[in-house]
Amino acid sequence: MTLEQPQGSTLMRPDGGVDASVDHLIQTIVDTKDATCSTDLAAGPWTFDSVPGYGPGSSMGDVIPTGAPRQGELPVDYREASEDDLDKRIRAAKEALADRVVILGHFYQREEVVQHADYVGDSFQLANAALEHPDAEAIVFCGVHFMAETADLLSQPEQAVILPNLAAGCSMADMADIDQVEEAWEQLADVLGPLDVADETGRVPVIPVTYMNSSAAIKGFVGRHGGIVCTSSNAQTVLQWAFERGQRVLFFPDQHLGRNTAKAMGVPLEQMPMWNPRRPLGGSTADQLIDSRVILWHGFCSVHRRFTVAQIDQAHAEHPDVRVIVHPECPMEVVDAADEAGSTDYIRRAIDAATEPTTFAIGTEINLVRRLAAQYPQHEIFCLDPVVCPCSTMYRIHPGYLAWVLEELVAGRTPNRIQVAADVADPARVALERMLAAKPRA
Ligand code: SF4
Repeated sequence: MTLEQPQGSTLMRPDGGVDASVDHLIQTIVDTKDATCSTDLAAGPWTFDSVPGYGPGSSMGDVIPTGAPRQGELPVDYREASEDDLDKRIRAAKEALADRVVILGHFYQREEVVQHADYVGDSFQLANAALEHPDAEAIVFCGVHFMAETADLLSQPEQAVILPNLAAGCSMADMADIDQVEEAWEQLADVLGPLDVADETGRVPVIPVTYMNSSAAIKGFVGRHGGIVCTSSNAQTVLQWAFERGQRVLFFPDQHLGRNTAKAMGVPLEQMPMWNPRRPLGGSTADQLIDSRVILWHGFCSVHRRFTVAQIDQAHAEHPDVRVIVHPECPMEVVDAADEAGSTDYIRRAIDAATEPTTFAIGTEINLVRRLAAQYPQHEIFCLDPVVCPCSTMYRIHPGYLAWVLEELVAGRTPNRIQVAADVADPARVALERMLAAKPRA
């Protein structure tokens, strides 16, 4: 089996299998021009803890909000420890803590972290997994900030949700700032009239819908205004729910998930204006907003924005039988050109269900793609993007930070706790509960 990576950089384990570690891959190709999106990926994330920005990787060009959390300095013995030492320290701390701690690892985390997780999944699967451990004192979420917030919303009040590196935000979630969203809501009321008054069909002018990948503040806003949360797995069901209650939808933060989902439901593109928060009326005319069905917030994921139609054409040309599966956070033309589109869970299940050896070209984050390639050696699985460029913010969670938070817990301290204030948490839970209650139309 081969993995498609640049410059012959596929790594093999001693047993002949594929090494799923993106860290190891980066170390081998970091000097090769164009093989990674940033040679800084080879440095420890602590190099960037005092520097504003998302750090190296796919989001490094995105604008980070003022006041985004920064991580304090990681003690030197974690920064200088070898991979083997950190591995041993994590295992020892985990054993000492036993049932007092649950470690959650997102699909996009580096292999060196995921191997220590009690559960691996997408953000909502992981938040639900934490519910199965109501007696655990701490939930260590190896993901990004909004995921830890969601886990805090769903966990017991006395449980501490810990994000090993506070700088692990999400550039897409940060693109929907609560002040900008409140301002947009006021502008929409100026155009559409009172937003809480239903028409003769019982539908209000606009229902806000937020993707799970958003801050707790946005989920709280949505909950307060009759709206709902969605995931990439249930976005169609949720939009249907919203169309039954509203004449139109304000969808944030990911324009691509909103557009791809609404288009698949038959909403014409001309009825999906974009809302750019830096422009009056989001950059649309009042008539365009009145005629709209889905108003798309100007947000995107810098990981999934890297995939292109040219990459798909190349995959088809080089592998005539390839199945190209991309995530719905990819741009519309990429989703249209792919053979299939679906959530991370869909991608994983599609590969798992393939009974014959198959070639898959996958349009999602590199850590998940390499792990799938290692787990399913009967298939040829490669990332559509030939440049190794992980999610910048997921990459901020290095085993050094995991070892640090676990050893702090062993010592009786609780570092990096993520807590959502009650006035935000209550309406945010309402929005999440609406999502859980929303059912596909029979
Ligand atoms: S992959 Fe995209 S949406 Fe997910 S955490 Fe990274 S930037 Fe955010």
